Amino acid sequence: MPLCYTLFVFSIVAGSVAVKSEVACKVYGVLHDPQMKWCPSCSKILGRNDTRAKHNKNARLAALKRAWGGSAFYCEITGWRLTTTDRESPFYLTWEHLVPGNEKKVVVAAALVNRMKVDLTINEFKLLVCALAKRFANPRWTIPKIRPQRCRRGAAASGQG
Ligand SMILES: [Zn+2]
Repeated sequence: MPLCYTLFVFSIVAGSVAVKSEVACKVYGVLHDPQMKWCPSCSKILGRNDTRAKHNKNARLAALKRAWGGSAFYCEITGWRLTTTDRESPFYLTWEHLVPGNEKKVVVAAALVNRMKVDLTINEFKLLVCALAKRFANPRWTIPKIRPQRCRRGAAASGQG
C-alpha cells in the first residue's frame, strides 16, 4: 500500500474521530469542543456580566433557544430581529425578566424594550403601553395611574430588567 494512500486513510479516520467527539450546541446546533459547556457564541452571551441577578444559566439557555430564528435571535416581546454585536443598537440582545428579579422568568428582549419596561412586570408594562396608545389616539383621555409592584425611581438606570 502506497504511503500517501495510508496517510490519506489515516487522516480520514482521525478526522472522523475528532468530529464524533464534538457536541452540538443546544441553540445553534453547531459542533463545539466537548470540554466547553457551551459553544463560543452562547458562552459570549451567557457570560455577560449582570450584577442585578444571579444567573440561571439553564433558564437563559432555554430563552436563547426560544429566541433563535435560524439566522438571528428575535425579541420575545416584540418579535424584532436582534443584534448580538452592536451594544449601542436599540436592538441589542439583552436579558429581560418578565417578573423583575425572577431569573426563572428571563427572556431575550431588545435593549430598547428593556429600557422602556424598567422594573415593571410584563402585565404592568402591557397595561401601560396599551394605555399610552389610547392616550396618543385621544389626548383628552387621561391614563389611570398604575401601581407598579417593583418600580422605583432610579432603579432603571442600569438598563437591565
Ligand atoms: Zn451555542
